[in-house]
Amino acid sequence: MPRKLAAGNWKMNGLRASLIELKHLEDKHGDADVDILICPPATLIGACEDTPFDIGGQDCHMGESGAHTGDLSAEMLADAGASYVLTGHSERRTDHHETDEMIAAKSQASYDAGLIAVICIGETLAEREAETTLAVIDRQLAGSVPDGADHENTVIAYEPVWAIGTGKVPTTAQIAEVHAHIRSRLTARFADGAHMRILYGGSVKGSNAAEIFSVANVDGALVGGASLKAADFSPIITAL
Ligand code: 13P
Repeated sequence: MPRKLAAGNWKMNGLRASLIELKHLEDKHGDADVDILICPPATLIGACEDTPFDIGGQDCHMGESGAHTGDLSAEMLADAGASYVLTGHSERRTDHHETDEMIAAKSQASYDAGLIAVICIGETLAEREAETTLAVIDRQLAGSVPDGADHENTVIAYEPVWAIGTGKVPTTAQIAEVHAHIRSRLTARFADGAHMRILYGGSVKGSNAAEIFSVANVDGALVGGASLKAADFSPIITAL
């Protein structure tokens, strides 16, 4: 079983001056017995080369190279020092109209470049209210996760869209239900599905992390806002 994972997604935040936060985090958690992943903006990946933490991209193109102005290939992220990449984040699905098929192709491109894909899934508020959450999860898992996924190259992140950046968090019963469902789908489809890490993401904070981590099949967190400052991310790592 891989170690638990505390992942920070800085989204479109962070200049070189922000790397001081990484230094503060290193002072406290440089030899933590959990995996710590930071996904800064791609402009900062190269500047993170001395950190003991894992570094990830926030997206990659599905192709290897070519005429795609502004895009980055998985190989470029690996070359810059990344070992992970987020695929299918809800903000990419919304802002860039990414489909499950595109996300599967990006995840496959990540494997081909030797990166671990953190494949993000999750329902909208309308889908939850329509009681279609588990059907949405099924569709996204089936469509976004390549057949070549295993516990070494893939992490699943369950991020209910309505919980991202809103301060709203599902109840532990709701998290337990979805994570158990994801686990059952992974074990049905993949020989090592029992060992694939499933992260929860959406308004995770120091004050709610321990409760969330106590839920079965929660193997860590994907944290946005609270990963930007070491003082906010540190208690989440400690709770893991
Ligand atoms: P927040 O932690 O800011 O809610 O963001 C979650 C997220 O989208 C991480 O990828």
